[in-house]
Amino acid sequence: MNDRDDSRLTRREFLAASLAAPGIFLLRDAFGAARELEATPGCGDADDVTPPQTAGPFYKPISPERRSLLEPGLKGSRIVLEGYVRSTKCQPVPRALLDFWHADASGAYDNAGYSLRGHQFTDDKGRYRLETIVPGIYPGRTRHFHVRVQAPNRPVLTTQLYFPNEPQNKSDWIFNPKLVIALRDSAAVKAAAFDFVLDLG
Ligand code: FE
Repeated sequence: MNDRDDSRLTRREFLAASLAAPGIFLLRDAFGAARELEATPGCGDADDVTPPQTAGPFYKPISPERRSLLEPGLKGSRIVLEGYVRSTKCQPVPRALLDFWHADASGAYDNAGYSLRGHQFTDDKGRYRLETIVPGIYPGRTRHFHVRVQAPNRPVLTTQLYFPNEPQNKSDWIFNPKLVIALRDSAAVKAAAFDFVLDLG
């Protein structure tokens, strides 16, 4: 869209590459470094607010409270997504509500029950952690998570998160490079990071 967005995408791609580099074994250290890279240019920058996106047709209220969406028999590649909810003034947001929902490995949503749906609250440092599987792709869309994020007594931010290096990102009409997760790919459990930034005035 503009030069700024391009540079941000490049930084995220660099970040993804560094996370994939051999020799990074400690998840916590890897993400500590990731956040340092991300936070310095973005913190306090109003342009860094996490952009909203459509909820799509598959949101269901009253999801179960849980940090892991894994269930016996669930097919797919495991992924752990972690990060912070913070304000544009760099303040962590404790007790922020995050409500995730996404497609299963075959690209289907559970509209009858609550499989691959769950909400949680950030801890006192503003952190969240979601354990789930990599969503499958369905026709017309690239790979994505859906999420609603809400600081206590504040409006809901509805948005989506995307995966780096997905061929369908280029053709997805609502894909936004600001919403791409940092991803450390591995055969066992994929590790991903994304920080949500809310404009709390
Ligand atoms: Fe969707």
